[in-house]
Amino acid sequence: MNQLRLLLLGPPGAGKGTQTSKLLAQFPQLKAISSGDILRQHIKNGTRIGTLTAQFIKQGKLVPNELITKLVFKHLSTLNDGWILDGFPRTLIQAQNLSQYLNPLGKDINLVIELDVPESVILSRIEERWVHLQSGRTYNDTYNAPKTPGVDDITGEPLVRRSDDNKLAMQTRIREYKATIAPLRQFYKNKGLLSVISGDSSDEIYPLLLDTVLEVSRAQETQI
Ligand code: ATP
Repeated sequence: MNQLRLLLLGPPGAGKGTQTSKLLAQFPQLKAISSGDILRQHIKNGTRIGTLTAQFIKQGKLVPNELITKLVFKHLSTLNDGWILDGFPRTLIQAQNLSQYLNPLGKDINLVIELDVPESVILSRIEERWVHLQSGRTYNDTYNAPKTPGVDDITGEPLVRRSDDNKLAMQTRIREYKATIAPLRQFYKNKGLLSVISGDSSDEIYPLLLDTVLEVSRAQETQI
């Protein structure tokens, strides 16, 4: 049976990572790829890709299409069916390339969910965000604080602030998002794959997201 291949879209700080974690907790057979997490790992490990991309990320600018596309394809090729993509594709050209890569394999994206969260909410959230670089787990001082401040609940390793979670980089990230989302949205709308979910908090959004995933997978006879 066909498996779920979900793309999450949404502005920076909309909670794509949080929603992904919730889905993974509920459906442990799914795997997730976050392009931002992959890049941050490279930076942490001091690889050539990390060196090439660190400045783009710090400034909130998109990294070159070719570089990120190759990187994500490499990770995708290691996965079996049944996955969530977060952060890639985020330009029309990336979406077209991904489709050209997956279509012949019979494994193209079969659901796209856009998280629609007000800008005021995402800006305030970003300032309180902490991440565990190894896993991509995120915490928030108000909504989802770690059990011990500054420490990952699962591994006990230190949490860090992202180099791009500051006002200036955030403005650039939001600008980049607004400049690229319309054609991407249209691309997936034309394929009949796009659902939009609006809300202010992940507690509000997750049940709606889950309903959408379950409904679409029933309709498409897709296994989760
Ligand atoms: P959040 O993680 O808060 O939802 P975001 O979507 O801005 O916000 P990431 O997806 O983690 O964050 O991306 C962080 C940075 O990594 C981007 O600002 C960009 O520099 C780079 N990046 C990640 N994915 C891509 C991509 N598909 N194309 C180009 N650059 C990317």
